[in-house]
Amino acid sequence: MIVLPNSSRTVDKTNRAVFTQTDTIVALSTPPGRGGIGVIRLSGPEALRILRTLVGSDSFEPSPNLLSLKTLIDPKNSRTLDEILDEALVCFFAAPHSFTGEDVVELHCHGSPVLLRTIIDVTLSLDARLAGPGEFSLRAVSNGRMQLTEAEAIRDLIDAHTEAAVHQATRQLKGEISKIIQPAKEDLLKIIVRLESSLEFVEDDLPALEHDKILESLRGLTADLSRLARTFRSGRLLRDGIKVAVVGRPNVGKSSLFNSLLGHERAIVTDIPGTTRDTLTEWIDISGFPVLLTDTAGIRASTDAIESIGVDRARREAADADLLIVVIDGSEPLGDGDQIVLCEARNARHIVALNKCDLANFSEVSFQNGHDSNGSKIVSVSAKSRAGLESLRAAVLELFANGNGESQGLLITNARHHDLLQRSVDAIESSLSLLQAQASEELVLVGLHNALRSLGEITGETTADEILGRIFSTFCIGK
Ligand code: GDP
Repeated sequence: MIVLPNSSRTVDKTNRAVFTQTDTIVALSTPPGRGGIGVIRLSGPEALRILRTLVGSDSFEPSPNLLSLKTLIDPKNSRTLDEILDEALVCFFAAPHSFTGEDVVELHCHGSPVLLRTIIDVTLSLDARLAGPGEFSLRAVSNGRMQLTEAEAIRDLIDAHTEAAVHQATRQLKGEISKIIQPAKEDLLKIIVRLESSLEFVEDDLPALEHDKILESLRGLTADLSRLARTFRSGRLLRDGIKVAVVGRPNVGKSSLFNSLLGHERAIVTDIPGTTRDTLTEWIDISGFPVLLTDTAGIRASTDAIESIGVDRARREAADADLLIVVIDGSEPLGDGDQIVLCEARNARHIVALNKCDLANFSEVSFQNGHDSNGSKIVSVSAKSRAGLESLRAAVLELFANGNGESQGLLITNARHHDLLQRSVDAIESSLSLLQAQASEELVLVGLHNALRSLGEITGETTADEILGRIFSTFCIGK
């Protein structure tokens, strides 16, 4: 069980330790800024009392899970003209049937940032405390309302940039990772119990047949867990995206290509060299994978101070990107300006987009075998007619997902899960080797216990509080 700060220990009917949060937290759960409505959420033992004070009735008995329209008042200005704060829809979720497992109150107010801040201030004056990042989810996990993997899936769902990433987070939210981990843990536990018993009772030594069966089960387990761990290659990209910078000398069609890949006219396109002074960044979707695409200023030596700053920024973006699309104007001979960019890109992962293939004087002769001198792929495109864009998109994905970038099926998208899966696979494999070498059960058990602990850490059962704190600090406030 996870024990949080500010919690008090009691025991339930079965003498089991129960930890109850003693403070009530509050936060705005909708994004900051103006909107039709803004939702304030409270969780903790004082949530209902605070709601009653806000609606000005100590006897208010809200029906759980039902919205009711109420006038919210500021008790400090009670019976004055300034008393009324807002007309809001309020909802009470009684413990333990709430998101956090505690009493939860939601106030659906009008979406004025000033009003929402005022209402939050009133709840603070009524002894609520501002929630830290992810604190609602942390309470939900600590109260057994959801597993850690599900809370992490909510964060990923909120941050998802493509439909495929949303789909993946939703699958994880439904507990699909636990559905694979749980049976693996049970199998592991059975093997541990069997080995422990042969260690405990000499007469209970492992017969050869059972020894072989255990070997087979452990092989099956490592195969299943390794298969899941391998999906991280695609899963990581699905969650975090690929940073791609479009680079090249001025006027080769970088902004045009950026707009074509984006599907609308975001960047300014002119035939005047040096128009793009700053970097422009937008998310695009390539086969479900989120790609953070950046248009950069044309790289060239310039006496214009503003353009030079833009060129510096372009170089910084290029250094920070996972992949560069080096744009070359294929309707002109390869010039010194192109060579400079190709030379700067030579140590980075890159694709060459030979642009303007719609023009009569377009030629691929500068690059004859489909690859540049650094061995990178060359794709002929036209930002204007959109010819070759599909091949360019495929080339981007190919570099990251080995051409079979799956965005279907359950994928491991979280580095923490991948690391723990890998650790459990390594631990089981070391036990397997020891078992094959007829080592003592005691030695074999060390790896199996480590594997079991790693699997438990994925779902949060054996995760240290400090690590939990770090995980939840990456959540947004109000979640
Ligand atoms: P940047 O300076 O590299 O960003 O280049 P722009 O995107 O501003 O384009 C420079 C000029 O090339 C503009 O006049 C564009 O209309 C033109 N251009 C860009 N891409 C193509 C293309 O694929 N075909 C043709 N024919 N013209 C293009």
